[in-house]
Amino acid sequence: MVFSLEAWPEAGHECDFALSPPHLTDILNERESQVEIPKILTSMRGHVKLGLVGRGLKIKGFFAVKVELLCDRCLTPFVSRINDEFDDRVNLTEPSQTDDRGQGNGHNQDDDAAVPIRADNSFDLAPLMAEFFWLAWPYKSLCRPDCAGLCPKCGANLNDGPCFCQNEQPTKH
Ligand SMILES: [Zn+2]
Ligand SMILES: [Zn+2]
Repeated sequence: MVFSLEAWPEAGHECDFALSPPHLTDILNERESQVEIPKILTSMRGHVKLGLVGRGLKIKGFFAVKVELLCDRCLTPFVSRINDEFDDRVNLTEPSQTDDRGQGNGHNQDDDAAVPIRADNSFDLAPLMAEFFWLAWPYKSLCRPDCAGLCPKCGANLNDGPCFCQNEQPTKH
């Protein structure tokens, strides 16, 4: 997802995009190597509209990705769709900028995502898109809203029907 700043069109850029799963998991590999990488079943597909405002980039669009999640209640994997919209403004940073500026100069830079400009005056949106994808990752995942979960006693998946424990009398207190 590389865009050149040379001959940037007046109206900005607008296009569909697709990012393969490795693009999405790369940023996890860089950060937390311990984390188990979730299964991403399809490319991230979406649409993006880009506009230049000074040295900032206005970015608006949407995406969808099919993933395999693990149900929080019954621990069964299931296929789900993660989709989201984004409407953001990010800073385009010059290659030298990160070296020259120290931290804590009163500029609340940490809050704003930054996209580095590369030596050939282009920038790559793939890492930012991957960021948007992980931000949309659900905190809670249920295979279905009324998932019955597992029997705390025998561990049977109660979505498959009642287990034998439920016919037993409670034995002790
Ligand atoms: Zn479930
Ligand atoms: Zn049971």
